[in-house]
Amino acid sequence: MKIFNSMTGKKEELVPLHPGQINIYACGPTVYNYFHIGNARPFIVFDTLRRYLEYRGYQVSFVQNFTDVDDKMIRVAAEEGITVKELGERYIGEYFEDAKALNIRPATVHPKATEHIGDIIALVQKLVDTGHAYELNGDVYFDTQSFPGYGKLSGQDLSELELGARIDINEEKKNPMDFALWKAKKEGEIAWQSPWGEGRPGWHIECSAMSMKYLGDTLDIHGGGQDLKFPHHENEIAQSEAATGKPFANYWMHNGYINIDNKKMSKSAGNFFTVRDILKEFRGPAVRLFMLSAHYRNPINFSRELLTQSETAYDRILNCRENLKFIMEHPKDIAVDVAPAATAANEKFNAAMDDDLNTADAIGGIFEYIKEVNTLFENGGQTEAAKAALAALDTLLDVLGLLPEEADEAIPEDIRRMADERQAARASKDWAEADRLRDEIRARGYELKDTPDGVKINKI
Ligand SMILES: [Zn+2]
Repeated sequence: MKIFNSMTGKKEELVPLHPGQINIYACGPTVYNYFHIGNARPFIVFDTLRRYLEYRGYQVSFVQNFTDVDDKMIRVAAEEGITVKELGERYIGEYFEDAKALNIRPATVHPKATEHIGDIIALVQKLVDTGHAYELNGDVYFDTQSFPGYGKLSGQDLSELELGARIDINEEKKNPMDFALWKAKKEGEIAWQSPWGEGRPGWHIECSAMSMKYLGDTLDIHGGGQDLKFPHHENEIAQSEAATGKPFANYWMHNGYINIDNKKMSKSAGNFFTVRDILKEFRGPAVRLFMLSAHYRNPINFSRELLTQSETAYDRILNCRENLKFIMEHPKDIAVDVAPAATAANEKFNAAMDDDLNTADAIGGIFEYIKEVNTLFENGGQTEAAKAALAALDTLLDVLGLLPEEADEAIPEDIRRMADERQAARASKDWAEADRLRDEIRARGYELKDTPDGVKINKI
């Protein structure tokens, strides 16, 4: 598989550090609110990467953190009159609910910053001891001048960065670019004991400490949104590599931005959507399909119109699956050879995904396969052939996290019962009752199709 490495700016063959094993760290959410659709993109992209690598036979360890203490957490907890811990617990729970709806699997480990204060302090201490960090009035700063590679990921020159740097409150810092590893306690803030007095970790240090704890000094892949490249990832590299003298990550992957109706998403522009709100209108897998329909490095434009199109596309997937299941239950003695189509679909899918996780082309291939299958089984077929066609489709859908939960896609029991009642009404030539039931079923969002093999129920 080739991956575009943001560090080198090139597509490179993915060579794992340990044969058969891939370690991935992806920056997770700050849990002070429901996550928004901008956050959802990296969660979906890196979940898909993980699924694909597993499907290709790798053992994958996937770590995604929860930032559960920072300025925003402290501010929102104070506004709501609850503790930072309570706020974090609430939105970690909400994260898992929305993630589940989007078929985002739980990570191998979801470390929380507040549960790794000891690891963080040890790392900061190591940086102080080796001259890469210094204490200033209870704060500890990373000395960016002490790390010659600073700026290498974002391709920025340190002297230029300094010119553009905001004037920091703490003007005693050695260098304007130096960033906080540890922050001294302010009145009323949550704090932990440290060698530098009471305080709390800065944001960047938690990712270095937790990724190294669970995945070792050098990761295979570090992922995150493009907006995290600088300063967050640059700072993660500086802290980690200064502490270990080893490369922090062999591959860096960054996903592109999400625009809303072609405008940048922002709270002030009023075009800020949480996934929780979006899920009131659209099904989770349809949202996921939408996100994966663009290459992860490209910007993606989010609009209701495009999501509605994605809903329709998702129905095409579901209807193909329903159709194959119907054939399995109502087989006909028509020979269908599905193997060539399935093999071709599989090869296309792998080729697209091997090329820097090109989910857009992979999805295009799946829809070609669906079209082909629909044609192959136009007049029905045998159970085994339909089963093989469905299995091939489901394998690919599962890699993209687009496989519906059986319970979700199943036709509800009362719809099936009404369909049976309608059949009974037709049999007794009670056409009015049959039509009434058909209309009622339609009003509930299902469509009946009379076929020579029986009645098919499709979701509209
Ligand atoms: Zn991070």
